[in-house]
Amino acid sequence: MRASRFAASYGARVAVAESGRFGGTCVNVGCIPKKLFAYAAHYREDFEVAKSFGWALGEPKFDWQTLLANKDREIARLNGVYEGALTKAGAKILRERATVVDAHTVEAGGKRYSARHILVATGSWPRLPGIPGRELAITSNEAFFLDSLPRRALVVGGGYIALEFASIFNGLGVETTLAYRGPRLLRGFDADLGDRLAEEMRKKGVVIRLQCDPAQLERGIQVAYEDGSAQEVDLVMFATGRTPNTAGLGLERAGVQLAADGAVVVNEYSRSSVDSIHAIGDVANRLNLTPVATAEGMALAKTLFRDQPTPVDHVNVPTAVFSDPNLATVGYSEQSARARFGAVDIYKTAFWGLKHTLGRHEERTFMKLVVDAASQRVVGAHMIGPDAGEIIQGIAIAVKLGATKAQFDATIGIHPTAAEEFVTMREKAD
Ligand SMILES: Cc1cc2nc3c(=O)[nH]c(=O)nc-3n(C[C@H](O)[C@H](O)[C@H](O)COP(=O)(O)OP(=O)(O)OC[C@H]3O[C@@H](n4cnc5c(N)ncnc54)[C@H](O)[C@@H]3O)c2cc1C
Repeated sequence: MRASRFAASYGARVAVAESGRFGGTCVNVGCIPKKLFAYAAHYREDFEVAKSFGWALGEPKFDWQTLLANKDREIARLNGVYEGALTKAGAKILRERATVVDAHTVEAGGKRYSARHILVATGSWPRLPGIPGRELAITSNEAFFLDSLPRRALVVGGGYIALEFASIFNGLGVETTLAYRGPRLLRGFDADLGDRLAEEMRKKGVVIRLQCDPAQLERGIQVAYEDGSAQEVDLVMFATGRTPNTAGLGLERAGVQLAADGAVVVNEYSRSSVDSIHAIGDVANRLNLTPVATAEGMALAKTLFRDQPTPVDHVNVPTAVFSDPNLATVGYSEQSARARFGAVDIYKTAFWGLKHTLGRHEERTFMKLVVDAASQRVVGAHMIGPDAGEIIQGIAIAVKLGATKAQFDATIGIHPTAAEEFVTMREKAD
């Protein structure tokens, strides 16, 4: 979408082949419906908190079909907006699956099209583990269209999609287990985040089993784990990684080098091993986030059609996990900062948010700053708590600009907010 629109605005003649629905994964089975579900799930707790502010409510009742219908209506609207934007930009739309024939030829719907440049932006697809009975399980693709909510669900995985769906199911009243084969959730994130998020999610009712991996599924659904334990659930969802969508695309035949996982190997300008073939987004498997894919698309359009070679800067990209509670992060984890800079100063705080002080609420907000001891630059900022993504987005600007801890300290906070803690942490952690 973004690459096509920008390329067209720079004067290129553009055709887009789309075999699915406009907007891709993010709009149809990713970010957007996921966040709508996360809002829905959080109401259960909001109703509880409301009582402590004096509100008396009847017994809240949740209707999955209403949520699905409203979500589908909104997504259909967005599909139209996206298609309209492409048409308005002057792009020719091919509602077909496309394959690459050679360096300058694409085939779609039985016709061949030649082009000076070919952009592969085919995204990624959920990967299932090769265990017996895996066909009984669903992935995030199907989770957005369930006929009804299960009574008991098992979500397998320890990454953001698994945590988000475990929180969604739990919030909507499903007895939820999360099983992850690793020792800590959110591999690659700051270790405090994985540990503390597990603690918070457990408090809210999710059963989290670490170092625990299903070995087999049988009808029922009976789950047999590798450690010999067993469990019966009504739904199993695997969120165990995604594979770049290159199978059967004809790329190898055209001479395009693929990585072992199928990702298109590209340089910093998103160019593949064939000069005229480029790849952006999940299919290039750099940082698989929507704003990164769109930034790569805009950079490529500039590089190819505006004579401004523009590499994409993948450093200090902020990201959020819309679990309950939310989590967001930018920059280095404590562990990666120690490896990169040597000595680091750590500042952390954990507290009950003001909104939760009137009731018997157990959720604690957590914040952490990682500071390079030598330069005193803040190189990492991490948060678990309400609106973490909204807060870290602002902090990310400061981190990207290389702000120092003293500059954070010199910034006056907004009171009373949770975010003000980011500019009032004074005590170094041991
Ligand atoms: C459950 C879930 C939640 C997510 N949440 C977030 C989030 O909160 N924030 C965030 O930043 N990112 C999130 N992501 C990641 C984000 O969705 C992806 O990084 C982003 O969609 C990648 O964009 P893309 O253009 O590379 O691929 P996609 O969005 O996957 O688009 C690829 C398109 O290519 C089409 N296609 C594929 N093959 C062909 C072919 N041969 N011919 C024609 N068309 C083809 C597909 O139909 C699809 O429309 C989430 C992903 C998932 C699965």
